[in-house]
Amino acid sequence: MISRCSIQLIQQAELPAISTHVQICLACHTTFIIFSCLRVSCIFFRFLSFPIMNTLVLRKPRCLSIESRPEPQPFPGEVLLTVVACAICRTDAVMWWQGHRDLVFPRVLGHEICARRHGDPVGQYYAVWPGNACGTCSRCRSGNEHLCQSMRITGFHRDGGFGELLSASEKNLLPVPSALSPELAALAEPLGCAVHALGRSRVSAGERLLVYGAGTLGLFLASSASVRGAKVSIADPDPEKLIKSRDLQRCFNISPCFTSDGSL
Ligand SMILES: [Zn+2]
Ligand SMILES: [Zn+2]
Repeated sequence: MISRCSIQLIQQAELPAISTHVQICLACHTTFIIFSCLRVSCIFFRFLSFPIMNTLVLRKPRCLSIESRPEPQPFPGEVLLTVVACAICRTDAVMWWQGHRDLVFPRVLGHEICARRHGDPVGQYYAVWPGNACGTCSRCRSGNEHLCQSMRITGFHRDGGFGELLSASEKNLLPVPSALSPELAALAEPLGCAVHALGRSRVSAGERLLVYGAGTLGLFLASSASVRGAKVSIADPDPEKLIKSRDLQRCFNISPCFTSDGSL
């Protein structure tokens, strides 16, 4: 499910759910006070003429709110971006439901992002790599920056793409080919995970591969393996997922495995 991050579209697509959660939260006196303070802070920012932006903030598990916040100020080496599309990852849903060990509230979620440079409304799209490694430790220097102990991930440790603007490191910007829509380009990060896993598994043309799980990553894995020439089957305990992904299975010549009881 993709959400364009202009605030108008967020409101159209998500507001009923958010209103519900806001109502639940308003039953809690503490949260009500927080919301009151936020309204004051919004007026405060406007009074001081800080440029502000709209964001979707997770204040605590199951409590999302649309808030005005000051525009992010890029650190050295970073650039200010306008978010064009931001996918909702399964991890975002889990964080909304129960939080996450790396998450400090309140937080603007969103780590699967496509954006443009701020002030360049017709310019190049970029997929934004969400990892921010230290670049100096032994793991970073040996090309294993994904194992960096100081890794800070956009949308986890720092604010992410569910806002109008985002500050990101210049070196994290991957130019998107012009034929690719921003909604698809936002999926570069999970696709990259699937392609990396495939590389490690050394699946080659002509080999038979069974992918268990027809969610986003399973479908990326299956379609990428098929492009490499593998003979791919896909199974899922939930037959509904196999039915929903039929078009993609046909497109990439993937065989679904249906069983009467959902087992393999
Ligand atoms: Zn994700
Ligand atoms: Zn490092």
